Amino acid sequence: MVRVPILIVEDNPLNLKLLSYLLHYTGYDVQTALNAQEALEKLEKTIPELIIIDIQLPGMDGLELTEKLKSDLRYKHISIIAVTAYAMKGDKERALERGCDGYITKPIDIKTFPQEISQYLNKKSDKDKAE
Ligand code: MN
Repeated sequence: MVRVPILIVEDNPLNLKLLSYLLHYTGYDVQTALNAQEALEKLEKTIPELIIIDIQLPGMDGLELTEKLKSDLRYKHISIIAVTAYAMKGDKERALERGCDGYITKPIDIKTFPQEISQYLNKKSDKDKAE
């Protein structure tokens, strides 16, 4: 079976390891990046179906990165799921406004996380078929 490529952008190495492990064992082809710059470098080589982006990143933050990708013809079709530790009111709306396709709040629930990601991928494939 072909493993669907996913990129995770997260500056906390432990979180990155956890998410990457979870998705790898769920059956995805997982790429990782610790910051926006590294993510952009990885994207030069592989185009994933979905990117999980931590909003709080050093340097270019997750929402800036999202805007950059959504305004680039090479990347705009990729589903972007924002992850944030700050469950502040308005955060979700802000993420969607800036172009994110979905939103997951930290702490990540390891029992439901792979399921949430697969739902976003299904939504994306329905949308791709409709276009
Ligand atoms: Mn962070």
